[in-house]
This record gives sequence, C-alpha cells and structure tokens, in this order.
Amino acid sequence: MRRGKNIYRHLFGPVPSRRFGLSLGVDLIPFKTCSFNCIFCQLGPTTRLTVERAEYVPVSEVTAELERWSREGARCDYITLSGSGEPTLHSRFGEILDFARQLRKARTALLTNGSLLGCEDVRRQAARADVVKVSLSVWDDASFQALNRPAPGIRWDSLVNGMQSFRRLFSGELWIEVFLVPGVNDDPSGVGRIAAVVDSLQPNKVHLNTAVRPAADRGTGRMSLEAMGKLAKFFRSPIEVVGQYSAGEPAGTSVTSDRILDMLKRRPCSAEDLARVFGLHPNEVSKHLAKLSWERKIATSDVGGRTYYRACRRER
Ligand code: SF4
Repeated sequence: MRRGKNIYRHLFGPVPSRRFGLSLGVDLIPFKTCSFNCIFCQLGPTTRLTVERAEYVPVSEVTAELERWSREGARCDYITLSGSGEPTLHSRFGEILDFARQLRKARTALLTNGSLLGCEDVRRQAARADVVKVSLSVWDDASFQALNRPAPGIRWDSLVNGMQSFRRLFSGELWIEVFLVPGVNDDPSGVGRIAAVVDSLQPNKVHLNTAVRPAADRGTGRMSLEAMGKLAKFFRSPIEVVGQYSAGEPAGTSVTSDRILDMLKRRPCSAEDLARVFGLHPNEVSKHLAKLSWERKIATSDVGGRTYYRACRRER
C-alpha cells in the first residue's frame, strides 16, 4: 500500500467492508502462516501450519507505519488485525491494538480463528480490541478436523473452552462467523449443535457465511442464500446471512490472486472495482490484495480520495 512516497508493508486498504465499514487492514503474519488449514480458505493451502508464537514482524515497524498513516490524515472506521495468516500467532499483537487505539482514529478489531484463546496471554491481548470476530463452524472434533484441519494438538474441546474463557474476560463486542460448506458442515443437526455453542458464548452478532472460490480445497462449493436462511433459524443470537456477491462475474468462477494481478497489470483499480468485476465480497478482495502486497507485487496510489491498486513495474 502506498500513500504519497511512502510504501506500507504491513497496512492494506482501507477497503470497504459490509461489516466493518472502511477497514484498514494490519497484517502481522507472513503469508499463510496459520494454525488452521481450512478447506475453504481463499488464500490457498497453509504453507506454515503452526501454533508457534513469535514477533513475526517487528512491532516498531508496524507502529511506525500506523503513525505515518495517521499523520497523513487518512481515515477509516476500523483498524483491523487480519490479513494473510492468524494474527494471534504474533506474540505482541496486543501492543499493536493499544497503539491503534491511542491514535483515536478508528475502532479496533481483531479477526481470529480462536485457536489460541486457550492461552491466557492471548486472551489478555485480544481483550484490548473493541471488536473480536472469531470463527466457529464445527461442532465436534471430527468436523473440526474435516473443515479446519488444525495444527497437531489443537482439539475441539480446547477450542471451545478457550472461547468460553475469553467471553468471560472480554467486555467488548464479540462477533462470531460461521462458515458453511455444502456436504461438510451444512447438516441441520450439526448446524444446530454449532448454534448451541455459539449462543452459549452470547455474541453481539453472528454472521452466517459461505465459502467463496478459489478455496484451498478446489472441490469446495458454496451454499445458496436460501439454504443459509433456513439454517439461520437455529440461532437465537442476532444473526445476519452475509454470503452474498456483487453483480458481475458469476461467483462460481475461479478467481485467483494471479487473475487479480493480471487485471491490475492492465489498469489500476479500487477494491470496489475489483469486487464488482470479479463478483467477490470486498473482504475476499482484501485478502487477495494483502497477499499481493506482502509479495510486493502491487502498490497503491490515492486519486481523488480513493485508493487505487496497480501492479508493480517488475510485474508488468
Ligand atoms: S480461513 Fe483463516 S483460519 Fe482458515 S486457513 Fe485461512 S487464514 Fe487460516
């Protein structure tokens, strides 16, 4: 991401997000370093499956970029720890949340798969966010292994126990995303069991979503909105079905980061342009843009208050 002459290595966007408004992404983890290898992951297979926590990128680099971004007068609704891996693997992510909050520019959010919430230090750091959005799409160890394919040692019961402990500690907003994949976790009895656990966590919001191609597992399909609407009835918590696509190219068409890069080689586009052309959620576009930024294949420029992405010269 570029503003003026400054290139950002760890910030991306801001991208428009239906759930977070205008969201500035902060990526703290090398591409596809994650504690899960979900079959529906739009970033492709996890290349480093791990639970090892470390300062994967220096905190000082990230805070310097946030400071610079703030000084340049930019604005957004949320500063969101997300991107191309599991952010709680970063051993000092709470310090980034603290720094983002004291800028007084936006609310802070953390997107996590919840796998490390069994660790007290992770819970304490995560509790510094205004909003924490966790994913929970399975109801027992067998479905957990089939859908999320976690790193060795992570069990379904420890995942749920960690989330319950976090809910007791956390006074901010807890949002839960449930991803549904046809033939894997869309059985009504299974979804009923997911709903029971989700409701016990007393979330402020639940988002019912569906896998969008390209996924890590190429056989992964997506649910119809009608089918998701029926399954939403199992939940007592406030729920929204969000598995919707913009008009344009059919959502079933395979969209890869390379296809997006090809488009950006031809002309600069905003995130909204890309979402419209490829028929993707802005959130999905942001993941591809995070990957391409991390690989230093794209840069950004501001024109008329809008952020445009373009391929770097060496990619053309
Ligand atoms: S969907 Fe999220 S939790 Fe799952 S493999 Fe991809 S980055 Fe990791």
